[in-house]
Amino acid sequence: MPLCKTLEILQDCERRNYAVGAFNINGLDQPQYLIKQAEKLGSPIIMVEPGVMEPYVNFEDFALVTARAAKQASVPVGIHLSHGLDLEQVERACKAGFTSVMYDGSKLPYEENVRNTRIAVEIGRKFGAAVEGELGALGSSFVDIKESMTDPDQARDFVARTGIDILAVAVGNAHGFYKGTPQLDFQRLAEIRRALTAYNCHLTLHGGTGIPADHIQRSIQLGISKVCIYTEMCHVGKKNVKEYIMQHPEYTGNFDIPEMIKSVMDGFASAEAECMNMFLSTGKCGAPAAADAIPQNTDLGPEYPSLPAMNPSYHSTGGYWDKNL
Ligand SMILES: [Zn+2]
Repeated sequence: MPLCKTLEILQDCERRNYAVGAFNINGLDQPQYLIKQAEKLGSPIIMVEPGVMEPYVNFEDFALVTARAAKQASVPVGIHLSHGLDLEQVERACKAGFTSVMYDGSKLPYEENVRNTRIAVEIGRKFGAAVEGELGALGSSFVDIKESMTDPDQARDFVARTGIDILAVAVGNAHGFYKGTPQLDFQRLAEIRRALTAYNCHLTLHGGTGIPADHIQRSIQLGISKVCIYTEMCHVGKKNVKEYIMQHPEYTGNFDIPEMIKSVMDGFASAEAECMNMFLSTGKCGAPAAADAIPQNTDLGPEYPSLPAMNPSYHSTGGYWDKNL
């Protein structure tokens, strides 16, 4: 199955009441491992460049490696830029072939966030990439969760004026580990959803690590169709490296680096599986579609002239990966 447009994946999530996991990538080994695990579980997946990995992995290499792996995958794979902090980053990701990009202007004054996000949407449209914006601020050690939640009326105004395809909401969620059990404001989430009824805008939840499964699933019922995960992957990866070193006292300096990396990837894959089960995306994709069901090429930028697009008749027929369910 080819690289898929993020919007097509999100539309299927909404139609069948589940959320797709959006997993941050730290290195070029990861896409193959995570996609393989997604295939085993029959789940779509979104591979995320979190916007800060450029010193280690540049956009172009990330998109190239992920698109290659996606092309051979039996499940839909999207490529997303998360928390793009400037419009130049957004444009570079679009040019590299990302299927969606986030412009994060949530720390800016509202009108400036609107203005820049609108430009990001224009860039995304030019390249066929979906655009995500953020309103409100996710909790962190610097931000008071309660004070910074997304306001439903402002969300309506923001979506109407920017034309974004995906809105990152702040409803009690936070990046990193939570102190105690997170308390999501479901009432607010329902109001945001209601406020956006007239718009074709999907909702995404950042800070998925540590939110209990029943809260995640309640969020999905209320309209969340993408959940972002990073901290859990890092946590498991770090744990596995430590265990690997402890289990090999015979290595006094010359560690078997590929084996060590594999232990990290195995940890990522197990965390991924847990998330996919929690997001109800496991088993949502059947075997690869028949070759004749795969639609013709779309231009995803100069680097990827031959990648096939999603089926344009998707809305009425269901995802083409449904065929073997
Ligand atoms: Zn985030």
